[in-house]
Amino acid sequence: MAQMKIEQARVVRQTAVGSSYCLLELCAPSTAEKVRPGQFVHVKIPRLDGAVLRRPFSVFRSDGVNLSILFKPVGRGTDAMTALREGDEVSLLGPLGNGFPPCAPGMVPIVVAGGYGVAPLLFFASRLGRAGVAFLGGATAADILFPEEFQSLGWEVRVATGDGSRGVKGLVTDAFDVWLIEKGSRQGCFRPVDPKMAVMALLGSINWIARWYRPGGPAGAEEVTRKFIDLFMGGLLPRGRAQTGAHRTASGVAASRLRIAGGSRAARREP
Ligand SMILES: Cc1cc2nc3c(=O)[nH]c(=O)nc-3n(C[C@H](O)[C@H](O)[C@H](O)COP(=O)(O)OP(=O)(O)OC[C@H]3O[C@@H](n4cnc5c(N)ncnc54)[C@H](O)[C@@H]3O)c2cc1C
Repeated sequence: MAQMKIEQARVVRQTAVGSSYCLLELCAPSTAEKVRPGQFVHVKIPRLDGAVLRRPFSVFRSDGVNLSILFKPVGRGTDAMTALREGDEVSLLGPLGNGFPPCAPGMVPIVVAGGYGVAPLLFFASRLGRAGVAFLGGATAADILFPEEFQSLGWEVRVATGDGSRGVKGLVTDAFDVWLIEKGSRQGCFRPVDPKMAVMALLGSINWIARWYRPGGPAGAEEVTRKFIDLFMGGLLPRGRAQTGAHRTASGVAASRLRIAGGSRAARREP
């Protein structure tokens, strides 16, 4: 933040990306030299009558002299930005934000993004110097941005679309969760489970929190989080027994109790 400043940037070029995104390249040496992956700039958009507020955009790429912004026209400001051409000037305030934390050695870097959310992540991947896994999502195949660029950096790319036109059908976050559980099972971190069922069980219970959680209630958000993680990772069985015969025995006992209960109800119905 201390190095943030206002710079008058010059448009180098603007190109269309896919059917509904734009890539705006700006000559902004002062900002481009300092910016780190995950940081953003505030753009004052020219020819936007009456608009005083700057618009924030992640930095998509920087070579130290020029920087690029990947944007989707969604309103007045971004619509006006589509008219920017070579030689036009825009005022940049930045770089802003803390940027992404470093990826610890030995950890697998994973990025998950939908649509233009990918903007800061390709920059991150290109600066990281080692490969990871990129989960890219979007409403349709046209919203899957830059998979080849990730691949050319050696990254594995997994795709999810809302309409199933590319990759798996569904949310990219669900695709990530399923992958994580599959990989965890293969590596022996998790016991073998049906990954999709596990994701539905986990997400179902997490999404339900919004129905019952009350700020100011007996348990704060951090305590709820801690208890949920404890339950997810440990289950209900005593520690160390979840993957043993005890688990099967407990399931069997539960199942036989259910059968007994069902049988007794059936028996009661008999005249
Ligand atoms: C840290 C950060 C980084 C970002 N990085 C990027 C990036 O890399 N790329 C990118 O494309 N975007 C990014 N964004 C989002 C971007 O800042 C916004 O898309 C942009 O500010 C929109 O400005 P606008 O003037 O075009 O839209 P506005 O006119 O301000 O409208 C904003 C939103 O409100 C909706 N809206 C406007 N008027 C109405 C109305 N009357 N009724 C209902 N809805 C309405 C618009 O459809 C739009 O979705 C980022 C945002 C943040 C906070």
